[in-house]
Amino acid sequence: MAGEKPTAAMVLSLIGGIFVIIGGAFIAFLGSIISSLSVAGTGAASATLLALGLVGVIFGIIMIVGGVMMYSNPQSHTMWGVIVLILSILSWIVAAGGLFIGFLLGLIGGILALVFKPSMAPSMMPGQQMGSMPMGGTGYAGATPPMGQMGMTCKNCGASIPAGATRCPSCGASL
Ligand SMILES: [Zn+2]
Repeated sequence: MAGEKPTAAMVLSLIGGIFVIIGGAFIAFLGSIISSLSVAGTGAASATLLALGLVGVIFGIIMIVGGVMMYSNPQSHTMWGVIVLILSILSWIVAAGGLFIGFLLGLIGGILALVFKPSMAPSMMPGQQMGSMPMGGTGYAGATPPMGQMGMTCKNCGASIPAGATRCPSCGASL
């Protein structure tokens, strides 16, 4: 039986990841432009932008992977929700916030994945109520001592006679 899927979280993570990739590519592109201008003193800056942009692209790819993973395996929604959430926030550092759209979609998608509750969890099945079984209807009939075996007295002398005896132990009269 198919459980519920975090569809909205998956779609938002996928689209957000695409925009973070675009943002990362944009940052890397800026770095390459600065590098091509060959302006003195900008070498370090262009290299840094290139590196940040590439990290941004990787972040976007991981967000897309997260969207696919949380959909294919809803039980992992918490882990991937946190990852997508964090990467979308960090995209401001390495991918211009995914042009803001990537940040926004990743943020919402990550939160939706976090609060997502997979349905039909086996642990949620209610246990059997053992106390509801009908009991005691027949009472304690089995525990009642059998009548007639004790308390017999000899008709001749009045002595008490144990059960099963054929003669009175006191006077010897036949019963
Ligand atoms: Zn007797």
